[in-house]
Amino acid sequence: VTDRLSREQRSALMGRIKRANTKPELTVRCALHSLGYRFRLQLGSVPGRPDIAFPLRKKAIFVHGCFWHAHEGCPLYKTPATRAEFWKAKFARNRERDSRLLRAAEQAGWKCLVIWECEVGHPRLSEQLTMFLGPTRIAS
Ligand SMILES: [Zn+2]
Repeated sequence: VTDRLSREQRSALMGRIKRANTKPELTVRCALHSLGYRFRLQLGSVPGRPDIAFPLRKKAIFVHGCFWHAHEGCPLYKTPATRAEFWKAKFARNRERDSRLLRAAEQAGWKCLVIWECEVGHPRLSEQLTMFLGPTRIAS
């Protein structure tokens, strides 16, 4: 896997992520709160068990860490050099699981958004959330 970003770009990106928060999901939840959205976490009744669910809108957000969820082409994801075969198999299973869960939610009629860890510190996160979710207030 070759990096698409230069060393400088990569360290800028890493710095931004580190500053944003230690846990990507918390950062997304914070952003949602400050935008005024109400949501549920790990709602068992939603197929695929998305991290964040909006039952009235029937929308769901999956927040993926770039390493564990094997974000292809991302500077935060790289197969470790030792036990490479083990990791490759593990990442393949993780990817397969992710797409299975996403499909399960979508087949049950939920609109889904996947947010990657590397997108979380981005200034456009709020815009991305608003575009996906629509107006803050909806008729219930
Ligand atoms: Zn990524």
